[in-house]
Amino acid sequence: MFAPRRRFVCRTDRRRFRADLLHATGRESDGGTRRKSTKRDPSPGARLVSENRALQVRRLPSCGAVPPESLRRAGERSLVHNGTQSSPGATAMPSTARAARWTAERTIEVTDKAVRDPAPDEVRVAVGSAGICGSDLHFYRGEFPATPGITPGHEFGGTVEAVGADVRHVREGDLVGIEPLLRCGLCPFCLSGDYHVCNDRGLVGQGVDGGMSESATLPGNTVFPAPSGLDAEGVALAEPLACSVHGFEKVKLRGHETVFIVGAGSIGLTGILAARACGAQAIVLARHPHQQEAARRLGAVEVIGDDDAGKERMAELARIHAVDVAVETVGGTADTLITAQRVVRPKGRVVLLGIFTGTRTSIDPLHLALNEVEVVGAVTYAASDGHADYAVALDVVADHADAARSLVTHRFALDDAGQAFDTAVDKSTRSIKVHIQPGTHG
Ligand SMILES: [Zn+2]
Ligand SMILES: [Zn+2]
Repeated sequence: MFAPRRRFVCRTDRRRFRADLLHATGRESDGGTRRKSTKRDPSPGARLVSENRALQVRRLPSCGAVPPESLRRAGERSLVHNGTQSSPGATAMPSTARAARWTAERTIEVTDKAVRDPAPDEVRVAVGSAGICGSDLHFYRGEFPATPGITPGHEFGGTVEAVGADVRHVREGDLVGIEPLLRCGLCPFCLSGDYHVCNDRGLVGQGVDGGMSESATLPGNTVFPAPSGLDAEGVALAEPLACSVHGFEKVKLRGHETVFIVGAGSIGLTGILAARACGAQAIVLARHPHQQEAARRLGAVEVIGDDDAGKERMAELARIHAVDVAVETVGGTADTLITAQRVVRPKGRVVLLGIFTGTRTSIDPLHLALNEVEVVGAVTYAASDGHADYAVALDVVADHADAARSLVTHRFALDDAGQAFDTAVDKSTRSIKVHIQPGTHG
């Protein structure tokens, strides 16, 4: 459980308040209880600007992640609000920003894109740093179809440059992180904080433009204020870390327990910090020497290689019932779920965080049954019990800012985004996390 320390409890409470605020904003902006403005806009010119903004909102690419109905409502709200309250900073912005985007040939190009004013429930962010995720590489390698024209990037942080009229929880100039989940905001899952399993769920950077851009306009309920002591690069690491926070919440990880993490990519490595934040200790199975070094740096109590000695050690850990929770973080086509289930003690729990691209992987059903091992699926993050996993992850990164930032092994200017993807996809570069930083120039 994520409340082992007094300081942590305080922060979590603060975050819970913020999460409530965010959800209140989200519900309000979905039109349920919002009080209508009684002011009238006396200026025909201002009304024309408002109508143009509404048209801009309607021109957003429509996808499964953002129901066209929501876009229509957002446009109507623009007509009501923009005449009565302007978006701070909007007038000072250039009308275009540099942005990476997918081409029809599955490559990345960097072009100028139109900058959009935020609708009343939106926030525009000047992106400081955006990480390349393993899922972005699936698109880059052509394993999943990328949508041409869409700007990728769902791990990012930056500075608020404009807020819509209904947004209250962040202000211009705030450093913020993005919890990149799109949702309907109205279904039972969304209303209970389980928006990560909403039927209309989507991801910023896949269905709509993401963070590999100088400027990103986002739903206000995806924008979280960052704790002090972080910069945009650190903030961007909260997204992968939040996946482990969510997984450990699901299996109710306790402070005295031992976690065995299978895989040392960015999910596995940030998972070490999430386990430590619970007061648990982490053992990591890491294939490559640079990943093993990183795991030690992040505080793993033991690092095991993917070799005969490692296999022997895993058998021993299983024999002495040392592992309470095993986490699979590799996914793809790896046969690693069975590794996780075999190392865990009787009555232990296995968390499935890796994204498997194959439809089949091995399990040992007799072993699972005889030992009553629980296997739990976990995807992204949510606010299931009233506080957001993503907000907890921001706090965990802030508590371990230097260790977390050591995961960023390569940094590129936005115009070199193609090179950044080539570096991330080529494991001989020993990259762990590659970041694109729109504020810098190559
Ligand atoms: Zn990701
Ligand atoms: Zn929903």
